[in-house]
Amino acid sequence: MEECIFCKIVKGEIPCAKIYETQNILAFLDIAPIHKGHTLVIPKEHFPTLLDLPAELGQELLETMQKVAKALQVTVKAEGINIGMNNFKPAGQIVFHAHFHVIPRYANDGLKLWPQKSYENNEEMLDLAQQISASI
Ligand code: 5GP
Ligand code: ZN
Repeated sequence: MEECIFCKIVKGEIPCAKIYETQNILAFLDIAPIHKGHTLVIPKEHFPTLLDLPAELGQELLETMQKVAKALQVTVKAEGINIGMNNFKPAGQIVFHAHFHVIPRYANDGLKLWPQKSYENNEEMLDLAQQISASI
């Protein structure tokens, strides 16, 4: 995984604006923020996507995102927080080392992150829910 930019950051081979770390997790500022303070929370170990992450890391990842979110409320006066994760290329993933975006938001900041669609009818929606549920 010597090509992975986030592994290089974890190893200290590439500098980062570090915010917080534990034995397993690192949080640092995104170099191209949506708003200043936009933070990336990553496992130190290399896993490409959400689907590869060991569930045991979940608690520490969640706790770290909560700590970062609270710190953004204090420092950059975040009024809202988006948590985002891009998985696989069609979803916009560029760095294939799983990472969560913690993004400060503000009232009337003009961002609309989720253009939305609708189902044909309730039946279509319930049928799809059943299919997805059955494949879990
Ligand atoms: P994604 O894979 O979720 O689309 O986005 C990867 C994110 O990593 C981007 O928001 C990008 O700005 C950030 N990023 C890419 N390379 C670096 C880097 O070398 N340092 C830092 N701090 N962030 C990076
Ligand atoms: Zn990596």
